Amino acid sequence: MDSVRVEALTRVYGDGPRAVTALAGIDAAFGRGTFTAVMGPSGSGKSTLLQTAAGLDRPTSGRVFVGDTELSRLSETRLTELRRDRIGFVFQAFNLIGALTVAENIELPLRLSRVKPDQAWIAHVVARVGLGERLHHRPAELSGGQQQRVAIARALATRPDVMFCDEPTGALDTTTAAEVLALLRAVVDEHGQTVVMVTHDPVAASYADRVVVLADGRIVRDLPQPGAARIGELLASLDRRAVAVGG
Ligand code: ADP
Ligand code: MG
Repeated sequence: MDSVRVEALTRVYGDGPRAVTALAGIDAAFGRGTFTAVMGPSGSGKSTLLQTAAGLDRPTSGRVFVGDTELSRLSETRLTELRRDRIGFVFQAFNLIGALTVAENIELPLRLSRVKPDQAWIAHVVARVGLGERLHHRPAELSGGQQQRVAIARALATRPDVMFCDEPTGALDTTTAAEVLALLRAVVDEHGQTVVMVTHDPVAASYADRVVVLADGRIVRDLPQPGAARIGELLASLDRRAVAVGG
């Protein structure tokens, strides 16, 4: 069973001669309990793929399925509910609410959906991300790595079908990034969580089970566990090609 599947997905921004094709026809499926890294040059459509697959943005054409639910058939209200209840999103810039404590940030999605928090699960998530001592602190009192761990706990609170992470370690130092990546790996291995993560970093991508590489809004490589060295070579060759065609 796939957690997420996209079919012939396109996204064109604007129209007329200034239209930009961010996604030029993507077919991909992300199986339950898998960890996929999405890579590719800047502007290749990575964030657009995540945003459309997560129902944060509507595709121009094509279809997105989360489990059995096809998103284009949903009203705005239903789409908002699906995003809140079945999708977790982790951003590079953490996007925590500064006025709320760690505990309040983590429980916010559940409060918004008026679902009674599963306290045993929340306690488990808090322990797993190592924030037990920080529950009543505010985000500004935490390090970047701690803030990202709060964002991951918040994304896990609803036990989503899939967690999308857009450059989750992009603002972190190497050591802290490694902790966050190990945490993502653990939620996949221990809870069968599905994770789709955009990253520029071959080392970060090597934590995943699979690496999908985009160029110009298309999938140009789809590799099982290529390893950091191979990923580095691949990205370098794509960059050389982009330079060669003047893009
Ligand atoms: P990546 O995340 O791989 O760097 P993006 O998905 O952000 O790439 O962008 C893909 C292409 O779509 C780029 O050419 C970008 O400039 C364009 N794009 C992204 N978002 C918008 C937007 N809101 N309006 C217009 N163009 C956009
Ligand atoms: Mg991006």
